[in-house]
Amino acid sequence: MIFRRYSFKRSATSAKKKTTRLVALSPQDSTYIQLEKHFQDAWTHPKKPKPQVHAIFEVVLTEESLVAFLRYRALVELSRVPRNANEQLLFHGTSRSCSLGDDKTRTQLCATPGCLLCSVIRNSFDVSKCGKRHRFRRFGTGIYTTACSSKADDYFAGAADSPFRAVLVNRVVVGTPLTRHHNAEELTELPFGYHSLVGVPGADLNYGETVVYANDAIRPAYLIVYAADVPPEVRVADLRSILSTLFKTPIAS
Ligand SMILES: [Zn+2]
Repeated sequence: MIFRRYSFKRSATSAKKKTTRLVALSPQDSTYIQLEKHFQDAWTHPKKPKPQVHAIFEVVLTEESLVAFLRYRALVELSRVPRNANEQLLFHGTSRSCSLGDDKTRTQLCATPGCLLCSVIRNSFDVSKCGKRHRFRRFGTGIYTTACSSKADDYFAGAADSPFRAVLVNRVVVGTPLTRHHNAEELTELPFGYHSLVGVPGADLNYGETVVYANDAIRPAYLIVYAADVPPEVRVADLRSILSTLFKTPIAS
């Protein structure tokens, strides 16, 4: 699933005003509907209940950032037969120190140095920052994404007072992937002719990963914000069970 719509702001206007980097999508918007389905279908951890999507935002890139991505994408496209950059929409979970996206008006990026979510939305990904949060790098120094939204969720860390969690959906130029079944922690670049690494579940990992080693191979495209706790119907069921146990009498449904 690839959305061809690119959102960007020209630098001349963004230099003068505070740049809006997130635009809330309406739940009736076809992109919202497709992304919500993509997120839910990709939630594959059997023990993690599917969360309720709360809001979806489109990430607005700067013109320079979009041009650099499209240039890289075109180079990969030209190097492959048939010409296809193999762009994919993949998830990435990171830490958030603020309440960005908790409601549709909270779209202003914060300046907290530890808020990696705002940093990625502001400046995209930076391979040199790889490993700052997680010392273990299964496939070396790269930018890690996954087709599995529930796996990206594992890497989200947010403020304790927020009832919401968030993951980024990113455009990733996968090109020709090098597939690996085993860890390769010393990797810093790919052999000639490859554009990404795909970690295959089975031997060393349970869920797939896609890693790129060039900053321009990836751009954040959407932010999905979802409820952190279990769905309301589960809580109602739990409550019934607790009351039933306490009073040792069945509760009428
Ligand atoms: Zn922030």
